[in-house]
Amino acid sequence: MPELPEVETVKLQLEKYLKGHKIENVQINAPKIFSGNPKDLVDAKVKGVRRFAKVLSIDLSNGFSIVIHIKLTGQLIYRGANLKQPPRLSNKVVGGIPGKHTHVVFELDKGGFLYYNDVRRFGWIKIVKSDKLQVTGFIGKLGPEPFRDLTLEHFKRVLSKTKRAIKVVLMDQTKIGGVGNIYANDALWLAKIDPKRPANELQSDEVTELYEAIHEVLKAGMKYGGASELAFVTPDGKEGEYQKHTLAYGHQGEPCSRCHKAKFTKYFLSGRGTYVCPFCQE
Ligand SMILES: [Zn+2]
Repeated sequence: MPELPEVETVKLQLEKYLKGHKIENVQINAPKIFSGNPKDLVDAKVKGVRRFAKVLSIDLSNGFSIVIHIKLTGQLIYRGANLKQPPRLSNKVVGGIPGKHTHVVFELDKGGFLYYNDVRRFGWIKIVKSDKLQVTGFIGKLGPEPFRDLTLEHFKRVLSKTKRAIKVVLMDQTKIGGVGNIYANDALWLAKIDPKRPANELQSDEVTELYEAIHEVLKAGMKYGGASELAFVTPDGKEGEYQKHTLAYGHQGEPCSRCHKAKFTKYFLSGRGTYVCPFCQE
């Protein structure tokens, strides 16, 4: 599932492409994923785009926001005057734009379009009042996130209060916002920590290393425009590149690039693929 670096990449591009555009009409082909009144969007201008962990908010001039969670396979693709020469559309955009998986189309002024495609349809779009956003359902429950309000002290406190496996805690969005399976795997490998260890048994210096490792892998994710697993593409229609640069994630059977003494193994922890170097992370 797209994580902080992927959604941040989407946010930055949407901000560039949508800012100043006016919404002229909204076509909704899959009413189940859309809630709110589309009339509230008509004639409103895009003021800016914000990200809350894995959730996006497109903020409008009339006091409404379009809140979007792309979940597993959601794609937001822009075409219009602010992207003069769009790159070739990735094959991951199954059916094209608009196509049979295009569930919502935001028609913009100056002939622009923002398409929402979603093969699995787990994603959702909600219209909410911008000033209610931070207390609204999902966003109100998010834990502090890296690069913002997740301080080392807070991180230490969160881990000290639970004996759940450290990897499971890292991915719990109510404890820490934005970290999912790919970056949790890579950060734990970088910090040389066994993903199964109870969070409250980590030593203080290990927690500090993990805190730094999380920031490092997320930064790398953003540098490469996110990881294109499954269906992830950026609003220009291209794929991210981080999947070619993962540290542990997806490396089962390959030798560890740090110790060269063991091969990565893979197992499932709380249902999620977990990749470890048995030597570095024992
Ligand atoms: Zn190793």
